[in-house]
Amino acid sequence: MDTNRTILIAGGGIGGLTLGVALRRAGFSVRIFERAAALRPAGAGITMQTNAILAFRTIGLDSAVAAAGHVMQRGAILDWRGHTLGTMLVSEMAQELGAPMIAIHRARLQEVLQEALGPEPLTLGIKVVGFREEAEGVCARLSDGTEVRGELLVGADGLRSTVRAQLLNDGEPRYAGYTSWRGVCEVPGLADASSTAETWGQGLRFGIVPLGQGRTYWFATANLPAGGIDAPDAHGELLSRFSGWHEPIRALIENTPAAAIVRTDIHDRPPVQRWARGRVALLGDAAHPMTPNMGQGGGQAVEDAVVLARCLATEKELPAALSRYEALRVPRANGFVSQSRRLGQIGQWENAVACWARDRLFQLVPERGMRANLRRVLTFTSI
Ligand SMILES: Cc1cc2nc3c(=O)[nH]c(=O)nc-3n(C[C@H](O)[C@H](O)[C@H](O)COP(=O)(O)OP(=O)(O)OC[C@H]3O[C@@H](n4cnc5c(N)ncnc54)[C@H](O)[C@@H]3O)c2cc1C
Repeated sequence: MDTNRTILIAGGGIGGLTLGVALRRAGFSVRIFERAAALRPAGAGITMQTNAILAFRTIGLDSAVAAAGHVMQRGAILDWRGHTLGTMLVSEMAQELGAPMIAIHRARLQEVLQEALGPEPLTLGIKVVGFREEAEGVCARLSDGTEVRGELLVGADGLRSTVRAQLLNDGEPRYAGYTSWRGVCEVPGLADASSTAETWGQGLRFGIVPLGQGRTYWFATANLPAGGIDAPDAHGELLSRFSGWHEPIRALIENTPAAAIVRTDIHDRPPVQRWARGRVALLGDAAHPMTPNMGQGGGQAVEDAVVLARCLATEKELPAALSRYEALRVPRANGFVSQSRRLGQIGQWENAVACWARDRLFQLVPERGMRANLRRVLTFTSI
């Protein structure tokens, strides 16, 4: 495609910023509109798994992301007493595939992406409110009443995407039945700074992810109706839910200021096969929001971004570029939506007998099967 044409992006999250960097590096002109007045991601960590780092490598960003984060060596699933139910061979697989798995504070990741993008393409405090196709391009309508024109509009505007609403008109996301809490804190002397762990209980889970330099990211889930709030603060609620669970769960909750604990209801959407029509395309959570059970939502947004930029750079015509983007990305990302949903349903089981059987079965999964699944998840093949 003619790289002199401008690509418009709604949303400056992980997906929108990565797409901006990838397109600029391919020679395109880019304009990103972000509704927030300042990019302040949730005070939480995120894992950028090997596939995301391999995708970042295609645009020269892997080293910067890895340097700003913390390498994860091992992953384990535990029961509430802290007994191991299963382990993941993270470092072995990272070595085999040639890129590490990284845990990073969301604010640091955002900084790395923004620095790589440069200041010019990003406009903060402006929302994309709609679009109109024209003979020569697409016109995006903005919240300040102005309009901008480009060759293509990409909706990278997250779970409740405005661009998706106009493009697909498929209603609200679906609630998964559980909510989450996230925090980052320092706990002196935390034993193993290179292992992540997720502890499974009855309708409850707790995850621990070291971020390096003494900081730890944690998350918790519980089966609750959507739209709840913690009153008067999250500490009491979390301490009573996870009372008696293995350390350092209590210490992590207590050491996180209540005001810094982020609560998010978990949603996804049933997968769809079309993410693009005419001069409008979707990417990341706008295209395929998934529950966080596989830690892949952000990684899939990064994969989308580098693949879409490559399709636009290598195909002569826009329709061919967008069809190729869909063909390359829809099956893989949609697969994660379904797999994450199933995993979350099992992880949130409440029945004591079912949970007991689940935990025993976990211990019986053959290593070869685990390894093959992990290899498939973590492999990113660039085009
Ligand atoms: C509890 C939890 C844990 C998670 N853990 C992980 C993990 O470990 N690893 C992982 O890979 N993923 C994880 N995820 C998923 C990950 O956070 C998302 O998949 C990822 O942030 C999606 O990126 P995105 O850029 O598509 O959307 P978002 O990050 O949602 O960004 C969208 C941006 O668009 C802006 N916006 C919205 N509407 C408009 C508009 N109309 N105009 C302009 N701007 C707009 C928003 O302000 C936002 O900045 C987790 C999610 C949750 C909830």
